[in-house]
Amino acid sequence: MTLTAFSHKFNGEYDLSQYKNLYLQNVGNSLLDIQFRNFVAEDVECPHCNAKGAYIVNSGYSKLTKQAVRQEHFAFKGEDGRDAHKFFCDYYTGSDKHKVASNEGLITATKYSRNFSTKIIRSYICKGISLGLFSQLDIRNMREWFFELRSQKEYKLKDCYHALWILKFILYNHYKKTTVYEVDKSKLEYDNFDIDKETYKSLATRFQVPNLDEDGRNAILGLSLSHFFKKSLQIVQNEKDLWTFNRGFLEEKFRITTKLATTILTMSPILRESPTNKPFKVMTDNPTMAYAALLLFISNWSYELALDKHKRINNDCSEVDNDNLGNVMGLNPFVFFSSWMAIEFAQRWKSTAWDVEFEKEFQNERERLRACYEIS
Ligand SMILES: [Zn+2]
Repeated sequence: MTLTAFSHKFNGEYDLSQYKNLYLQNVGNSLLDIQFRNFVAEDVECPHCNAKGAYIVNSGYSKLTKQAVRQEHFAFKGEDGRDAHKFFCDYYTGSDKHKVASNEGLITATKYSRNFSTKIIRSYICKGISLGLFSQLDIRNMREWFFELRSQKEYKLKDCYHALWILKFILYNHYKKTTVYEVDKSKLEYDNFDIDKETYKSLATRFQVPNLDEDGRNAILGLSLSHFFKKSLQIVQNEKDLWTFNRGFLEEKFRITTKLATTILTMSPILRESPTNKPFKVMTDNPTMAYAALLLFISNWSYELALDKHKRINNDCSEVDNDNLGNVMGLNPFVFFSSWMAIEFAQRWKSTAWDVEFEKEFQNERERLRACYEIS
């Protein structure tokens, strides 16, 4: 649902009520006639993929409860009557749409956003624009940069579900200094006993600890922290056999963005109290990561220049007189980055570490352990 869209005529990004007000103040005096519909179709573009053919979908109400069940929003239709958004656009809804994890980096920052971080970041963006540090066009350019990047079909995601689990337990065994798997029937008493996990633990003892130095700590984070690991498994299940772009290219940018986002959180008395203010949790705070990435994008990825811009925004105590400026749809290009790093690492490791079928090895070992544990 496109809640804010870009207007050429009013040179900015607006939600529908703001857009209608601007129209009534500057162009026509009715929102019900064909003139308004034609104006919208000509003027408005998708804020993400620049699709044209905009029209307005009115709010929907439940006949039963009279409660709103659908928010008023922009929609985009091509000449053939089909969804006009480009395939990789987050708003694309065609029947061949794939729900990919990158879509989850999108942030809609309307005035009515309830998310705590979104509200604060929205105020930073308003201030940054009113101070002339960046413009809505810069934000548009950043989205375009990321859109181009993720449109590149660099490799097909291969199934590495088993490899991820085995790598996770290689690290676990290494940490626990375990070199052999021992069948321990007392584990059967625990509710969370899981024969699949035992199988992976056992398979993991057959491998050396891979050299993770070169691939950085991001792969380790993705394998060891449950939030990222679960997402890695989900991505592989949902997106295997789909073409995707190489995230490794973003690794350095991810590191600087995480560093800047952490500093931004630390500098704000309000955000500092936020539950997201933990070293690795900042990576899951999409609004703050998106804002830090924007500051870096317009500063040619220089940490010092970007931090300087944030300091100016943070130290400015003046009121923002145009609240519309914050109507920008930001995005976090690094959403689930650690999960992706784990996946990319697992794919490389799988191709070099084992030339037999993972599925077959898994099933064989699972059967063996089921017999050992006497599971029928
Ligand atoms: Zn679009």
